Amino acid sequence: MLLPYNRFVPRFQIINFGCRANQADGAALEQQLAVSGFQPADRHSTADVVVLNSCTVTASADYGVRQVARQIRRANPAARIVVTGCYAQRDPEELAALPGVEYVVGNSHKTEIANLLSTCSPENNDGTFVPLASLTPSSGALRTTTAKILLGDIFAHQELLAAPVLGAAARDRTRPNLKVQDGCNNRCSFCVIPYVRGRSRSLPIERVIDQIRALSESGYQEVVLSGINLGRYGRDLSGGGKRLRLADLIRTILDETMIARLRLSSVEPMDFSNDLLDLMAASPRLAKHVHAPLQSGSDRILRLMHRKYRSHHYRQRIEAAFARMPNAAYGADVMVGFPGETDADFEETRRLIASLPFTYLHVFPFSRRSGTPADKMSEQVNGAVVRERGRILRELAAEKNLRFREQQVGRNLEVVTLDGHSNNGQRGTAAISDNFLDVFIPGERLDGNRMLPVMITGTNESGLTARVADALECSYALESPSRITCASAYSGV
Ligand code: SF4
Repeated sequence: MLLPYNRFVPRFQIINFGCRANQADGAALEQQLAVSGFQPADRHSTADVVVLNSCTVTASADYGVRQVARQIRRANPAARIVVTGCYAQRDPEELAALPGVEYVVGNSHKTEIANLLSTCSPENNDGTFVPLASLTPSSGALRTTTAKILLGDIFAHQELLAAPVLGAAARDRTRPNLKVQDGCNNRCSFCVIPYVRGRSRSLPIERVIDQIRALSESGYQEVVLSGINLGRYGRDLSGGGKRLRLADLIRTILDETMIARLRLSSVEPMDFSNDLLDLMAASPRLAKHVHAPLQSGSDRILRLMHRKYRSHHYRQRIEAAFARMPNAAYGADVMVGFPGETDADFEETRRLIASLPFTYLHVFPFSRRSGTPADKMSEQVNGAVVRERGRILRELAAEKNLRFREQQVGRNLEVVTLDGHSNNGQRGTAAISDNFLDVFIPGERLDGNRMLPVMITGTNESGLTARVADALECSYALESPSRITCASAYSGV
């Protein structure tokens, strides 16, 4: 291993933006840099190299990346800034023009960053600059502008940057993300992701099992499975003579590892098959948490979005899940202000959401992304209208969330303790429940990464308060969690 400077160990920091899959990429990069002899720096002001693992899902995501690059430049002009991720794949020139940015590396070459930084130092001991030409990046074009751009055809890219993290890079994670799938074969008309992440591809099951075993043996209680289109896991893999499905992966994980809890990040609604829902309902080791992007409740808008379902299909999937898991968390991504969205379309969205047992929502304003069909659509919706629609849905989501939290009082839930120990200065332990609620256990300072049955004692600003369940409650709760499920039917707002 060639250390850039044989006089000290270079320090690095990775700043991640965007989704869980991108966070998992960042964690894998941390691991690769650590293995290449770099040392993690706690903040960018002391780092020799800062990697911005960018997101480009919305215009404000782009803006956030540029802002941070400028802040780093001001705070640490000596830092070598590398920008990678989806924004780097979509518009490398824009990033290369930012002051202080030395490399722009597309998702196509993310796996080469550790090697790139290890083999090219700004100067040798004698101050000469190592010409980049010595690098032989595979199948990628190397262009030199003010920054060096390393970028290839993302659709020709089969590799999947994935390895959750152990050791240094995992130090601050209680619930590590494991990215098992990347890319997307869908073409939602508002979405730029397929053009920056490439084709859907899956991490082979054996590698997933290895990673989860390593995490479980390292003491992690919960692992979050993530991907760009997670529900499409396995379609490019075969096993036992058939194409694999996400449910096959989960069954194998439950059979072949000791992980205490598995959580699914986001899965497209039509991929919540009855088989997957049965598996989620039957296994106490699968978090009762269904996150299914909805985007709109108007069939007219869903058609314009090129979404692969209509509102009744969506309703049917959520109701199928609720029938099996009435005390689970139900979340959705919803977009307001898609081009041409009328008051009537929005009202259909509001009504559908009001009638379904959601416990939280992620509400996003439509964001024009160049290169997507929706970017060329006329009838862009007025900004004030978009904000008002967003406000209405967030208010609705807050009502539902409070109602759901109130239903938990007096119940036993199982939580994973996190590393936080205070709640607005109150002494205690932060935790997260099976059904995706923040839980605070006042008084006790428990270690992170413990799985505990608790008795919910009340609600607080954004979550629940609890105490550790006593022996009797424990045995009751652990014996058959389903018995504590609330019979009260969902009344709807
Ligand atoms: S499913 Fe649609 S929204 Fe999701 S990543 Fe694929 S194209 Fe984008």
